[in-house]
Amino acid sequence: MEYIADMPFTIMDVASLLRLNIRRRMAGQVYVDCPICGDRRGKMNINLTKGLWRCNYCGEGGGMLALYAKVHGVSTSVAYQEICDALQTGGTAPAPAVSKEMAQIETVPQSERADAQTVHRTMSALLSLLTLTPAHREHLRTKRGLTDGQIDRFGFRSTPPPQLCRHLTERLLEQGYTVRGIPGFYMNDSGRWTVKFHRRTSGILIPILGADGLIHGAQIRLDHPIKNRDDPPERSGTKYLPLSSANKNMGTTSGSPVHFIGDPFSRVVYVTEGALKADIAHALTGRTFAATAGANNTAGLDPLFALLRRNGVEEVIEAEDMDKYRNQAVSRGASKVWQLAHKHGLACRRLIWDPNYKGIDDWQLALRREREQKKEAQEMKTGPKYSQKYRVYQLDLNGVRTYPFAFQGIEAMRAAGYEQPPAEDYVLVFDGEIGHSADDGREMILERIFIRCNNDLPSGYRGHRLAASDVVELYDSERRAFFYCNSTGFVPVRFAPGTAAGSRE
Ligand SMILES: [Zn+2]
Repeated sequence: MEYIADMPFTIMDVASLLRLNIRRRMAGQVYVDCPICGDRRGKMNINLTKGLWRCNYCGEGGGMLALYAKVHGVSTSVAYQEICDALQTGGTAPAPAVSKEMAQIETVPQSERADAQTVHRTMSALLSLLTLTPAHREHLRTKRGLTDGQIDRFGFRSTPPPQLCRHLTERLLEQGYTVRGIPGFYMNDSGRWTVKFHRRTSGILIPILGADGLIHGAQIRLDHPIKNRDDPPERSGTKYLPLSSANKNMGTTSGSPVHFIGDPFSRVVYVTEGALKADIAHALTGRTFAATAGANNTAGLDPLFALLRRNGVEEVIEAEDMDKYRNQAVSRGASKVWQLAHKHGLACRRLIWDPNYKGIDDWQLALRREREQKKEAQEMKTGPKYSQKYRVYQLDLNGVRTYPFAFQGIEAMRAAGYEQPPAEDYVLVFDGEIGHSADDGREMILERIFIRCNNDLPSGYRGHRLAASDVVELYDSERRAFFYCNSTGFVPVRFAPGTAAGSRE
């Protein structure tokens, strides 16, 4: 244990020696790129007053000697000696830019976080002022497999354009809501309250719900992941950001609230990373999910597990992304879930799935699509439950007659002087039925007939492949309907096959 008061240097001296890259400065702390795991998104927090550091990505942390020791692979006593030497002799000159930035660390006044009820009320009101753009809805529907009902229930919104931030905040204040101490809100340079939405961080706003049913904050799924200039090309960049105003005047940090979706009294609770992932996995499986903001933001699981245990929850299933087998940081987070579960007397097991799917949501979505495909294949095999009787009529091409509209669309037929297809020139080439599913409409059935009569000709079919100028009849014991096969799709027509001259029956 090192006592920082006894040290002849500060943790910032160590940070300068190690030439750590500062990404963000706040009151009494800075965020730097982690020299241990090499992550370059400023996830390592350095607490200046406590002389401590911790990387929120890889989970490593400790005192200032340990920082130097881990980077250089030496013992803490060697670290101490080397740091003293370097600072006294200037052996490793601090990078000037870094030192300057260190000197500029100033105290930005922060607001104390409001109580949970107040955060919930203001966040709910803010969300109610926002909408979800059609593009975002489409993404959630087609790419993530959510229904409209689920999208509405989870309360997703699109981040507002930055020029509306002041107006939105003003409306909340007028309606009597508290914005001080709410993550995301801060006071701008002219001393007015506003909320921190930037164009660069536009995206889908995902409410973070607690097991208490209250909104504790929000996460943004960025439309354009943020890549740092010096990121290696294989790194996809930051995809999610918390709604936070931590480094702003009178701002409030998002904290690391755990998202909870499902039944807080359920026997089993799954734990994963990322609120949207949890929402989707819950929607697909109906199971109960808890999600940390990142694999290593596990602090919030401690009080949650205590609560769940009191509720009678028996088992926690760790369902972190499958890269836990490859990614040290995710692996360490997964172990912490395990430790915390045991601490609270909850059984814990690890969920392993098809490693081709990274997240549990991807995997569940793939499973659902597989089930749907199987169901469809099964229907094809056992034969669909519904069938439609139909007949196909084609122009009689056996004789010497020609038809100016043969194989052309209905316009050509009209141009040839016919209001309706002349039944006397047509012959019946097929009479049979086609299977279809319950929800197939008339157009879909005609489409199925077209495909069948072009590829897999039904036995007893005596004509050429179904083409423009043909007439298809759909019938049952009561009704008959006729459709002219147009160049694109089918057009309802009147047709009197009773007068068909040369039926080849
Ligand atoms: Zn790290």
